[in-house]
Amino acid sequence: MSRTTVATIHLGALRHNLARVKALAGTARVMAVVKADAYGHGLERVARALAGDAEAFAVAAIGDGLRLRAAGHRQRIVVLSGPDSPSDILEMQRLRLEALIHSDAQLPWLARADPARGLLRVWVKADTGMHRLGFAAERVREVHGLLSAMPAVDNDVGLMTHFASSEEFEGPETAVQIARFVEATEGLQGSRALSNSAAVLGWPDARGDWVRTGGLLYGLSVVDGQSGGDFGFRPAMTLSTRLIAVNRLASGERVGYNGTYVCPEDMAIGVAAIGYGDGYPRSAVTGTPVLVNGRRAALVGRVSMDLITIDLRDAPDARVGDRVELWGAGLPVETVAGCAGTISYDLTCGMTKRVLFVEDEV
Ligand SMILES: *Cc1c(COP(=O)(O)O)cnc(C)c1O
Repeated sequence: MSRTTVATIHLGALRHNLARVKALAGTARVMAVVKADAYGHGLERVARALAGDAEAFAVAAIGDGLRLRAAGHRQRIVVLSGPDSPSDILEMQRLRLEALIHSDAQLPWLARADPARGLLRVWVKADTGMHRLGFAAERVREVHGLLSAMPAVDNDVGLMTHFASSEEFEGPETAVQIARFVEATEGLQGSRALSNSAAVLGWPDARGDWVRTGGLLYGLSVVDGQSGGDFGFRPAMTLSTRLIAVNRLASGERVGYNGTYVCPEDMAIGVAAIGYGDGYPRSAVTGTPVLVNGRRAALVGRVSMDLITIDLRDAPDARVGDRVELWGAGLPVETVAGCAGTISYDLTCGMTKRVLFVEDEV
């Protein structure tokens, strides 16, 4: 029999969230970012839910583009890290995937590509300050010209940049990046795509022609102290399991590996069937909230591979078999991420093969 650990993916929430992104994006079109198996929600499932309204998809790997084409999607698909080798170019032509061009190493691969195999759509990535991928802003004009003249490259060459700190709405960094991008691309032909999810929320000047949103589609926020719900988005994942034991312990007894939690009084400790082997973060500290039958209770002691232990003093009626929610509509994943020293994206991406995925229309 399979374990009781279930990730429920809410297709209605995905569609609601895309509609909300579209409303916020104004005239910009939306590239639905579905990399990393759609942030752990399941690539094919999410693409199917969004296909009617997503104008393009963005992935991190050609293999994900292949999966989307195999599932029958005909939208534009952008590979955000671009081709990694000359053979990738042929694959991108065959699958009609759009290439992100960020380095000189990629240019000869494109220059040698055979136009008879199909015109490649490309985007020039400008490094405006993040210093991860991209051409220095001063070189964008030259590279745009080189690409536009290549026989196998569609002469509608797009322009992209990525923000390092767009969730810091008050900080100066994003304004500097926007200004550098505008200057580097002034007068050039081609669509502009600057904004990730946080920029859609906080930097309306950066909408450009396309926004590239991942997190918000899943109802996730990386804005400090705020969940997706605070911006009108709905969580697309609920992670739940069941209590498999309830133990009455005496004051002073220790719980779990290394006995890091000591019962402050006689109390009930619940044991739930989930652990880091499922993707629940091992770094979650004592006090991390969980919901037992919909009521808040606190994780105590170490997260182990298959189990967690829960202080049931606020859920005195809890019994074996009762439902435990780790995150979802009643408990923002952002709150749990904060208790585990990470961000919500990391948690949803981390679901392991042991978790049973189901979907509903909520
Ligand atoms: C992942 C990614 C995005 C999407 O970021 P979100 O914060 O999830 O919206 C956009 N652009 C690039 C280049 C990315 O790598």
